[in-house]
Amino acid sequence: MQLSIGLDIGGTKILALAHDGTRVLGTSEVPTPRDAGRLAETLSELTAALVDEHRGTLGGIGIGIPGFVGLDGVARQAPNLPAAIGLDLGEGLRDRFGVPVVVDNDANCAAWAAFRQDAPDAAALVAVTLGTGIGGGIVINGRLFRGAHGFAGEPGHMVVATGGWTCPCGQLGCWEMYASGNGLGRLARAAVAEGRGASLAAAAGEGGVVDGPLVGRLAGDGDPEALAVLDEYAGWVAVGLVALVNIVDPDVVVLGGGVAALGDALRVRVNSALGSYPTVRSGRSLDVRIVSLGPEAGALGAALLASETAFGADPPPPVG
Ligand SMILES: [Zn+2]
Repeated sequence: MQLSIGLDIGGTKILALAHDGTRVLGTSEVPTPRDAGRLAETLSELTAALVDEHRGTLGGIGIGIPGFVGLDGVARQAPNLPAAIGLDLGEGLRDRFGVPVVVDNDANCAAWAAFRQDAPDAAALVAVTLGTGIGGGIVINGRLFRGAHGFAGEPGHMVVATGGWTCPCGQLGCWEMYASGNGLGRLARAAVAEGRGASLAAAAGEGGVVDGPLVGRLAGDGDPEALAVLDEYAGWVAVGLVALVNIVDPDVVVLGGGVAALGDALRVRVNSALGSYPTVRSGRSLDVRIVSLGPEAGALGAALLASETAFGADPPPPVG
């Protein structure tokens, strides 16, 4: 049995997954080491343990990193994983296991999993991950679109509000300040501050935090103020999607990340907000979906990328 291993490195944990080409065989999870040397060792140990456990022949390894990953597989920017910046994390694994190692941005990996799993017939797919920030991935004609440097498909830092909220990247009004999971919480706190969120404040309680999950919970109970915040949030999601749709012209948009757990409550609102933009609706057939995959999307996509040639005309992934 040929095995691929996917390693999704998050800011707080690493999810490792073994895949046999058709199904997930097993996963494991460890905290993300802060130290660069320990990080490389941990990837190696996770891989060895999964290969031992599933007794297959290792064919390839995929690594997803939360940051801007160059075509050479080296992270150039990684605010949530500074230890990885400048490291060739594939090198040690290639040396030890003697197999091809693909390193890519985590959202590119998740987009690839969404394409293969949820929309293999899509001519052009845009996957957007609404989590702590916003990640993205673009698959065109069955290939991941990686750009000139490997940094394509990073929509979180599109400026959607001139002079808006300050983003950690240094810009004002980035999309992820409004339309990420954290953005949902930010919109809710703004509503409370402006007197439109008494029920949210009451539910959070004294000293409690008004955040995205709280909005989701209250909205699920039909609370009008939470639903109003959710409407506002869907409007911000739509603002960014309008730009992506006009540039990429996708037939499928897949929404993933923590906020996607809201399911149809989110999808219906985003669709409704998109309906007010003539350029999005006229002459297009656009299907906005919620991803079927859970938190394992990035690791699964990394494993699938490792076992497939997905790069087409783009420079091939680094191999040993
Ligand atoms: Zn930004």
